[in-house]
Amino acid sequence: MTEKSAAAILRKYGLKHTAGREALLDLLRKAERPLSHREICRGMDPMRYDPVSVYRSLQSFIAAGIVHRIEGDNRTSLYALCTCGSGGHCHPHFFCRSCGKCECLKGLAMPELPGLNDRYVVEEKRYYIRGLCQACAAENSCS
Ligand SMILES: [Zn+2]
Ligand SMILES: [Zn+2]
Repeated sequence: MTEKSAAAILRKYGLKHTAGREALLDLLRKAERPLSHREICRGMDPMRYDPVSVYRSLQSFIAAGIVHRIEGDNRTSLYALCTCGSGGHCHPHFFCRSCGKCECLKGLAMPELPGLNDRYVVEEKRYYIRGLCQACAAENSCS
């Protein structure tokens, strides 16, 4: 995934290729954590890509399954790139209660819930973990 360029991702998923979309994907690719719409707009060149276009492109990336939306605190949506093919529900998310940072825990698998599939048609799984991130935990232990 990391070695794939934004243009290659757009091509692979049959998405319309524009300079703005490529810049948007690049921004998400380089971000180390999920970003809010506002953070994304701040990272984009406003002359080239307005907030509405950013929003529309994010929606098509979500529909294509390469970007997933995470419900953050205060009902803000966060967006992250994940091309595993499961629409982003392949991993849990961590929220830091101190700095508010959200992280994709990509190395961790979603927990299996035995018996669930016998009774329900599962369409979506979300798993959130809250606590202190490493930086905040270190700060807390020093003071
Ligand atoms: Zn933190
Ligand atoms: Zn994620």
